[in-house]
Amino acid sequence: MVMIDYELKKKVMDANIHDALKYCYQCNRCTDVCPVADLAPNRYNPRDLILNSFLGLRENIFRGDDNFNIWGCTMCDTCDEICPQKIELTGIFTVLKNMSIAMGEGPEYYTIQASAIYDSGKAIPPQPAIERRREQLGLPKVETPNIEEVKTILNETKLNKIINK
Ligand code: SF4
Ligand code: SF4
Repeated sequence: MVMIDYELKKKVMDANIHDALKYCYQCNRCTDVCPVADLAPNRYNPRDLILNSFLGLRENIFRGDDNFNIWGCTMCDTCDEICPQKIELTGIFTVLKNMSIAMGEGPEYYTIQASAIYDSGKAIPPQPAIERRREQLGLPKVETPNIEEVKTILNETKLNKIINK
């Protein structure tokens, strides 16, 4: 039997602006325009995700390692723009992604990139080849950020615990 998770439902409803979510009439336009659903129709479906979120059906949303159904979204916003009920789908999907990270189920590429930001203050760590190329192109040097400040901010968000720093 599928259980309703009322806490999850509340989190999703709190993230939803103007209560529009309860007026989703499952028209499927979000899925029709979604480029990810177009490429991977059996693995990603925003309409389905919205329905399961509204109903609080946790087991249908969080599936351990098999989490493309959440993380497949590229946040392109196309669904937000097309939804006739003005539901901000991507705001809801952000809540689900944050919950997935908090449960330690986020994809590895996210934790690798978060580690790079923690260690170097940059999503793409400095590389001599890139710096040489920038110099050849006459581009200014990329300043080194204050890494301790970056770490302090990330520690405050408790990201360090998630990425084991
Ligand atoms: S386009 Fe909007 S109303 Fe239609 S199914 Fe998607 S979220 Fe629901
Ligand atoms: S924001 Fe995500 S769900 Fe919406 S259309 Fe883009 S990829 Fe699909």
